[in-house]
Amino acid sequence: MSAGSGMRALRGPAATLVDNPFEQPSRACLVTHEDALVVIEDGIIRAFGPYAELKDAVPAGAEVHHYPDHLLVPGFIDAHVHFPQLQMIGAYGAQLLEWLDTYTFPAEMSFADAGHAARVARLFLRELLRAGTTTAMVYCTVHPHSVDAFFAESERFNTRMIAGKVLMDRNAPAALLDTAQRGYDESVALIERWHGRGRQLYCVTPRFAPTSTEAQLDAAGALLKTRDGLFLQTHLCENPGEVAWVRELFPARASYLDVYAHAGLVGPRSMFGHAVHMHEGDFCTCHQSGAGLAHCPTSNLFLGSGLFRLFDAVDPRRPVRVGLGTDVGGGTSLSQLQSLNEAYKVAALTGHKLDAVQGFYLATLGGARALGLEGTLGRLAPGHEADICVLDPQATPLMAFRAGYCASIEELLFMLMTLGDDRAVRATYAAGACVYDRARPGDPFLPASS
Ligand SMILES: [Zn+2]
Repeated sequence: MSAGSGMRALRGPAATLVDNPFEQPSRACLVTHEDALVVIEDGIIRAFGPYAELKDAVPAGAEVHHYPDHLLVPGFIDAHVHFPQLQMIGAYGAQLLEWLDTYTFPAEMSFADAGHAARVARLFLRELLRAGTTTAMVYCTVHPHSVDAFFAESERFNTRMIAGKVLMDRNAPAALLDTAQRGYDESVALIERWHGRGRQLYCVTPRFAPTSTEAQLDAAGALLKTRDGLFLQTHLCENPGEVAWVRELFPARASYLDVYAHAGLVGPRSMFGHAVHMHEGDFCTCHQSGAGLAHCPTSNLFLGSGLFRLFDAVDPRRPVRVGLGTDVGGGTSLSQLQSLNEAYKVAALTGHKLDAVQGFYLATLGGARALGLEGTLGRLAPGHEADICVLDPQATPLMAFRAGYCASIEELLFMLMTLGDDRAVRATYAAGACVYDRARPGDPFLPASS
């Protein structure tokens, strides 16, 4: 943890969400400073405000990293992503079920080789940091060593990550199947090893209802009771063919979500990916239980799954917590700026406007709330973990030109979420340590330990 300790500060223009712009006027939910100071000690933000007011809070000799002409924002939160699918991102021509058989399962089978899992985990963590993402909720494969590989890499960068071993005991290639008992036992061992170790958090991870028997879903429910603070992730109502299949496999259940509810999987630390084809009753169940939904626009467009009804989900009469997911490899970019670019278009196609404040909320504070990590992540504010993304609004010649015509912070944020991607990330801080700096000579990545 040495890289996170000691007092240091980041200085520059800054923006952070402080409230929910789907329930309050957007302008009231965003705090900005043209010249801010973020004071950090032991990996935690101790003070945040105008430089002129806070400059005396930093002792002489403490490091101050100055980013004039940049924008400090909270590190991005990716609520749904598969690290083993990096090798088949951008695979041509299939919808969900065919895509799983043709591309996903063969890719995941290659993770039987622990060396391969370690190499991909190494690349994946670096690609997240290059995109300014400091927390992700991650599917590994059915192989326990894929989870070890991922968390070991996260531990090197001291990033706060949430991940788990995929549970599948039917309807997938034999090489990727466990059993209800074996999946339970392997998950218990991984929970013992990783949950709460440093910044790592464990997530019980049945892939989705069609690849788990009822016995396995019940075992997942039992796993959630073994320790405090465990998470649950799975897929829900992504594609019409999938929804019909679930209806055939579980004829006794009232809905797809009810399959999970029956197994005890729907609660405040549950995150359901996609939720494109939802009924009003499903949204009510999510609202009442505090479960979160991961909006994955690049994936839903790429796989032709459908349009997520974001503004229905967050309806203030029964708001559901929503985070933003890249869903790589169904998604086409690990950059949450690119997710927002597509989220804006999905909203437009459903008759709504997603403004920039709402967009950045989904990618930061909204994601933290959806994961039950409000107060820990997602804001530049005292007491929060110092996970920070330094954006460069002039990253490309076109962005630099366009930025010159932005008359407000909202316009600048909207330009970033429309034109930006990993090129717009100058540096990324995890628990106060600069783990990625595009301008660092040689290797731009700096693990806290290796
Ligand atoms: Zn997914």
